[in-house]
Amino acid sequence: MKKLLSISLFLVSGFTGFSQPGVPIDTLDTPEGKMFIYANRTWEYESDRDFDGVLCPGIEDVVANDTTMLFQQFWKTDVTITCTTNEVENMGDTIWLCTIDTLHSGYAIPFHGRVTSRFGYRKGRNHNGIDIDLVTGDTIVAAFDGKVRYAQLHEKGFGNLVIIRHYNGLETYYAHCEKLLVAPNQEVKAGEPIALGGNTGRSTGDHLHFEVRFYDNPINPEHLFNFEDQYVDANLLVHKGIFRPGSSKYAGSGDNTGGGSSTYTVDSDARTHKVRSGDTLYGIALKYGTTTAKLLHLNNMKETDILQIGQVIRVKP
Ligand SMILES: [Zn+2]
Repeated sequence: MKKLLSISLFLVSGFTGFSQPGVPIDTLDTPEGKMFIYANRTWEYESDRDFDGVLCPGIEDVVANDTTMLFQQFWKTDVTITCTTNEVENMGDTIWLCTIDTLHSGYAIPFHGRVTSRFGYRKGRNHNGIDIDLVTGDTIVAAFDGKVRYAQLHEKGFGNLVIIRHYNGLETYYAHCEKLLVAPNQEVKAGEPIALGGNTGRSTGDHLHFEVRFYDNPINPEHLFNFEDQYVDANLLVHKGIFRPGSSKYAGSGDNTGGGSSTYTVDSDARTHKVRSGDTLYGIALKYGTTTAKLLHLNNMKETDILQIGQVIRVKP
């Protein structure tokens, strides 16, 4: 449910008195469909109110009806994990999941940058996702078509977090964001900007912590995303081997590292910089305390020029 931002809309609703919570005091016809308005100044669309959270009926049929699994998921916009009883150890058969289909054929790498930390056991903790180097303010995009389930500050580590549920049966997490560009129940397309990258939550440097989950259980994003060559596998075979043992027991934790070298330091007195994978001109400018305009001028470059790994550029006159 969204907070009612506009007082004028509230007045238009013809407020007549207090109702029981959950009982709309008025309805509005909008281009997006019927809108219910509540006495506590919140509102929601009819389609959202009746939404059961199932975007991929095919997968839902399999996991909900398999008596050894009985996986469940719910549509909750205020928590990360919607069901804590989905035990991957109970998975028997392999599920063939199509990450894209004819209706939802788009996909995108959430941010093209250097992978600085991978999925798995790391420094005594489980890392439920993958870390991608970025500079605060960089645009993060949705991996697949879907519906935003969660978009708010997560107090326990993720920082500003977006969770999108997709039509392919997966959910993706985008953590430590500086700014969120979407709201719960909003439909998004693959490649659509959803947040600006940052360093919020338990994070020691700006980066994107990206997770892929199947019914609340994290799987290695590199099972389907190739971050280096920027493509996504159209097929994912879901079986218990792609999850971490005991994965659901840790499903709520974020991570507490900035992703190793995502915030590599530079010699501020240096006059040149050797381009590394994941570098952007904007990022280099920030690290040396200069601007992209100055860098372009110093190096006789145009904004459209592409940085090459290993290329040496001047950072000071
Ligand atoms: Zn991480």
